[in-house]
Amino acid sequence: MRSYSLIAPAKINLYLEIIGDRSDGYHELVMILQSIDLADQIELHSISDETIRVHCNHPQVPTDKTNLVYRAAELMAKKFPAALAKYGGVDITVHKHIPVAAGLAGGSTNAAAVLVGIDLLWNLGLTKSELEELGGTLGSDVPFCVEGGTVIATGRGEQLSPLPSLDHIYIVLAKYRSLEVSTPWAYKTYRQQFGSGYLKDTNDLAARAAAVHSSGMVKAILDKDAAEISQKLHNDLERVVLPACPQVLQLRELFAVQEGVLGTMMSGSGPSVFAICASQPQAEQVKLRVREAIPDEDLELFVTCTTGQGIQVTGDR
Ligand code: ATP
Repeated sequence: MRSYSLIAPAKINLYLEIIGDRSDGYHELVMILQSIDLADQIELHSISDETIRVHCNHPQVPTDKTNLVYRAAELMAKKFPAALAKYGGVDITVHKHIPVAAGLAGGSTNAAAVLVGIDLLWNLGLTKSELEELGGTLGSDVPFCVEGGTVIATGRGEQLSPLPSLDHIYIVLAKYRSLEVSTPWAYKTYRQQFGSGYLKDTNDLAARAAAVHSSGMVKAILDKDAAEISQKLHNDLERVVLPACPQVLQLRELFAVQEGVLGTMMSGSGPSVFAICASQPQAEQVKLRVREAIPDEDLELFVTCTTGQGIQVTGDR
């Protein structure tokens, strides 16, 4: 029986702009997604019966068919029934380190790891773009998580154009364990409050170009200028999440006044908040100072850094 061990990194949003509505009910977005080295570990083992089993050490993560790793394995089983019959089912263990329901694509990166791992277990030889296409049917962030790095994502977030990768920009990440923000709630509330300002025709290229403001961030990334990237951080969803979650607003304000912090922003639909720091020692200092200011054990704090990698295979047997 074969086994693979994979690393599944989280992401943060350096940029998230809502452009308008799409005919499929999703929002038309412009996002700049960045992998970070805070990661889950995924173990995959072939098993002789044609079933899918999921284990996870985190109490908030389901191990039934609603887990995204289950859905990823089920998708592969449906697409490649002959491989399932030949190689057997799969036993999946998720070692969670990424905070759950945090706006860090935890479930999506786990699903991406399962697609990559089953491709190897079953000798399918799928290309990155084939894996990304499969991932897009599971969730908008899954295609990005396969390849990782620094990427501009458009459409509902599944159309990816790589940017030069940003390595070793140090980040402090904060998330209240018990605080969750539902991504559908955040987008729905945004539509209710700000939908009147949406671009009416998202296929009108001139209107679209005028509506998108990401060029400053793209230039800062091309220049690999951490200070400028920090100035250009943007997330439209802060407009609905910060007023609804005073703890997130407090973190945001606390990070903003710390020495060594170049910029701070909520990631995705929150409630995690990150701060870009000038160096690793400064990030460690910022983490200590925020911990002193908020001694609440419910608050998780991490020092992490940007990485150019998505799913990585770390072992096989
Ligand atoms: P995104 O940034 O893509 O919106 P997120 O980081 O906000 O995602 P997740 O950590 O993926 O959120 O969790 C969202 C919900 O999905 C959780 O409530 C959790 O119960 C469920 N879930 C299903 N599968 C997983 C998984 N493998 N890991 C984490 N959560 C999962």
